[in-house]
Amino acid sequence: MTVLVTGAAGFIGMHVAESLVARGERVIGVDNLSTYYDVRLKRARLARLEGHAGFAFVEADVADREAMLSLAEREPDATRIVHLAAQPGVRHSLVDPYAYVQANVMGHLVMLEASRRLKRVDHFVYASSSSVYGGNRKLPFAESDRVDHPVSLYAATKRSAELISESYAHLFGLPQTGLRFFTVYGPWGRPDMAPWLFADAILSGRPITLYDGGRLKRDFTFVEDIAAGVLGCLDHPAPGDAPRLLNIGNHRSVEVRRFVEVLEAALGRKAAVVDTPRPATDVEETFADIEAIRAVCGFEPRTSIEVGIPRFAEWYLSWRKGG
Ligand code: NAD
Repeated sequence: MTVLVTGAAGFIGMHVAESLVARGERVIGVDNLSTYYDVRLKRARLARLEGHAGFAFVEADVADREAMLSLAEREPDATRIVHLAAQPGVRHSLVDPYAYVQANVMGHLVMLEASRRLKRVDHFVYASSSSVYGGNRKLPFAESDRVDHPVSLYAATKRSAELISESYAHLFGLPQTGLRFFTVYGPWGRPDMAPWLFADAILSGRPITLYDGGRLKRDFTFVEDIAAGVLGCLDHPAPGDAPRLLNIGNHRSVEVRRFVEVLEAALGRKAAVVDTPRPATDVEETFADIEAIRAVCGFEPRTSIEVGIPRFAEWYLSWRKGG
């Protein structure tokens, strides 16, 4: 099987691509190496992937119609797509809103069009986000809950991509699964996300910023569980006319201050804390109902934060030392 993985130089993309090549698939990774965060980290992830014979890299922008259509035409065996490329980050969407619509809406549409026109794609799996649930107070979040109140532009673009995808299932019968990822962490993580920001501040002797005393709760999900879930779902294509949207999370809602305690223990240092009110872009709690993905894709989260955070910390320390 040949799988086109967009966002392959990214955090989740690298783990997904690596899991695919490890089980013998051919992977074409696409990424534009966006400068949203340290490109050195993206190049290091790619270098790791390029160590596998089954991996090939194409530097391209998913919103570039010609580039994506001609890539798809050059790769007639790519019958499965894992579309992860996006502009992530809820708070940054206040700073550069255009980048979010361009990558997450236009880029998503281009990938759907490339899939439709080629008529060969038998499963289009794409990244959505727990952020589509907005300030939902019904816990845990189930796929049938209302998702009509995004609290960030990032969330609005992810919900838009879900709706555009659904129209492609209805009109063109494109088999698809949208996965709503819940706060992913682990080795090779993102420098703009809390685990990295906290670890960096703790080791540099700077205070960490906690919102609302660290009482916000997140369903922290280990990246290797996410990668296993993506592959499990990829192997179970949805019927063409029935678009699928599935939560993928750890099914445990953990206070951020507890996450920090485990990180402090893993790093052997205490954090100094600055407490500030929660910004309008951030919700109080996320918590995934995962019954649907269990039933459809056989997904089972295996990694508690007590196991996953030390794995992240160990990797982070080696990266900080220079790889
Ligand atoms: P990431 O930023 O590490 O990876 C995304 C990759 O996409 C990057 O390497 C970037 O260079 C690339 N990219 C961005 N715009 C592009 C474009 N226009 N064309 C081609 N490549 C482009 O982020 P991640 O955490 O790995 O996220 C992967 C996906 O999962 C994204 O769709 C994100 O919105 C979604 N997601 C992530 C989380 C999380 O906790 N990490 C949670 C919910 C949803």
